[in-house]
Amino acid sequence: MPDTLHLSPAEAAQRKAFLEFGEKDVVRLKDLHALLAGQASFFVEAFYAHLLAFEETQRLIQDGAKLEGLKKAQAAYFDQLTAGEYGDAYIQNRIRVGIAHRRVGLDPKWYLGAYNKYLALLLPKVGSLLGEDAGKTLETTLALLRIIFLDMGIAIDTYIDADRQAIRNKTEQLEALNQVAIAISSSLGLQEVLDRIMRSGIALSVSKAACIAFYSEESQRFEEWHTQGLSAHFIKNMSFSPGGLADETFTSESHVVSNDRPETRHKLSKLARDEGILGFICLPLISHTRRLGVLYLYRHDRDTFLPEEVNLLTTFAHLAAGALENARLHAQTLSLATTDTLTSLLNRRALDERLHGEMQRSRRYGKSFSILMLDIDHFKKVNDSYGHPAGDAVLKQLAAILKKQARDVDSVARYGGEEFVIVAPELDGSSAQLVGERIRKAVAGTAFILPDGREIGVTVSIGIACFPRCADSAEAMIERADQALYLAKREGRNRVYLYRELLHAELEKSPGRIAELLNQDIENAKAIATAVNVKTAYLRDHADRVEAFAMKLGRRLHLAKAELKLLRHASILHDLGYLSVPVSIVNKREPFTPQEWDIIKQHPVAASEMLKEVPALQDAMPLIRHHHEWVDGNGYPDGLKGEAIPYLARILSVVDAYSAMTSDRPQRRAMKPYEARALIAAGAGKQFDAHIVAEFIRMLEGAQADSFKGDA
Ligand code: GH3
Ligand code: MG
Ligand code: MG
Repeated sequence: MPDTLHLSPAEAAQRKAFLEFGEKDVVRLKDLHALLAGQASFFVEAFYAHLLAFEETQRLIQDGAKLEGLKKAQAAYFDQLTAGEYGDAYIQNRIRVGIAHRRVGLDPKWYLGAYNKYLALLLPKVGSLLGEDAGKTLETTLALLRIIFLDMGIAIDTYIDADRQAIRNKTEQLEALNQVAIAISSSLGLQEVLDRIMRSGIALSVSKAACIAFYSEESQRFEEWHTQGLSAHFIKNMSFSPGGLADETFTSESHVVSNDRPETRHKLSKLARDEGILGFICLPLISHTRRLGVLYLYRHDRDTFLPEEVNLLTTFAHLAAGALENARLHAQTLSLATTDTLTSLLNRRALDERLHGEMQRSRRYGKSFSILMLDIDHFKKVNDSYGHPAGDAVLKQLAAILKKQARDVDSVARYGGEEFVIVAPELDGSSAQLVGERIRKAVAGTAFILPDGREIGVTVSIGIACFPRCADSAEAMIERADQALYLAKREGRNRVYLYRELLHAELEKSPGRIAELLNQDIENAKAIATAVNVKTAYLRDHADRVEAFAMKLGRRLHLAKAELKLLRHASILHDLGYLSVPVSIVNKREPFTPQEWDIIKQHPVAASEMLKEVPALQDAMPLIRHHHEWVDGNGYPDGLKGEAIPYLARILSVVDAYSAMTSDRPQRRAMKPYEARALIAAGAGKQFDAHIVAEFIRMLEGAQADSFKGDA
């Protein structure tokens, strides 16, 4: 604690003025001094005899040597009191003596008694020395009282000042404890909590540096440490060897002090001395649940730690441990919330955040970025052949490959069961393709080791979308990468597709290309339908299924070859119009609004518009346009009724509805075949042509019977 009482010459002058202490008093005191010459020891002896009559003061002055010292000092003071020199040196000396008295515990009340005793001894002497001159006696008495009041005032101020200083120190300590308490109750990051604890610990103990070392129960040693205020040289060379001071603190759960005093068991190391450290304390960090490690506080200008300081620092260390435990739990919870447990990659939620963040960043800075979506080929077979744990082992190894192939700035996430997504900042489409190709090769060239030691090969398909060329929103990026992935699968797997190259991308930009391609070769219909159907998952197999059902049913209804061909083209292209329906509507999970229905109902019209310029499809066009008409006239787009609806369109209508009912849609799950069959049967004569429905049901029942036969 620094002793800070300071009285400037101006303040001293003011105190004297207020006491009306002036030149005349100095003269009177000087005169008295001359008269009293040589009598100091009389006063001192008498004074101490009085002082030591009290138990409390006796206790303060126990040994003879101390008493002699005090007497000498007291004699000097009595001498000074009347010597006539009351300048700055006198004042400073009074402050020093006051501080010394406070330190030994001599309270102001003893001052009053002492001065009283002194006056009681002195005044009779003044009376007898100056007896004849009553005026001089009074003036001398006043002068004595004034200088004594001045001295007493200074003495009392040293006490008040010390108390103020003590309050300031306590406040600082409470503030430091408060800082730690705040850190505990707020959800700060671990690093910030560490910083705050070390900063507060340094302030609280008036140290220069700090260190927090964490103990690992697993490895049974200190594994990780954080420092503040230490040189790079010190940090590099510090160690926490087993059996050392940190270990002792940690195991004994109580503090250890190290300095170069004879009473300490732990001498300072050369490393510490070279760092200018005079002493340090090591405190255990124990939270309510577990032992975390230790906290060091290093001093550069004082080596001791007083008992009350140690108490305070122990409380501080307890609070600090609580704060650290909280921060660690918080960090763990956060990472659990963003990490996939099997692969330790980011989870889908974290990916969404990164993706949106990257989209914003790239937009703001006008940069490009890419996402790579990856799906394991025929992964079901891995599970089926080797078991689910084997599948999990493959997933883990694949995650490691992705992590290794990706850059530090990339975000690698497990998007679904065996689907992964990499968000690659500042990577354009063609660079992303190179990365994708590198990943594909790395996976194909890896022997995946199963839990039983067997090795298998695995391939992946990768779809890539890039900003801003392929998509301009996070959702669209995912969708397009997914579309590219779908195509990579469809075209044989173990390949990398960039969305930009897809026919769909081209068709969406210029629908006129459809007619052009069909006019080149009508067999392009299939590729075009596929390209359009990548737009949404539920349409992907739909065209194929409709085509297969239509051909089978058409044959049962004895259609001519030309009619079958027409029906086939119409089946393949019947949903072409979805190209012009916004993807947000197509994939909507909530029921459509009337406005959205209006847009959807336009898809047969849109398709016929697109095909207007294709002479070879002129006859198929009405089938496409009318495949949503109802025989009772309640269908769309033209509300045709019964026979007015082309026969082939009525066939298409039945197989289209059945295929739609038995596949998942964004708003609902797929119906069971028997449920869909019942619904189709119920629609006969209303939505569907009754004759066609009857034949279709027979066909389905036949297929079921076949499959029963197959089962038997
Ligand atoms: P494709 O080439 O078309 O992708 O064929 P696939 O068999 O991989 O088909 P799909 O992608 O639909 O397969 C998903 C399968 O992945 C289904 C499920 O058995 C498996 N799977 C999903 N998540 C996990 C998982 O956490 N562990 C294991 N072992 N298998 C999973
Ligand atoms: Mg999959
Ligand atoms: Mg797969």
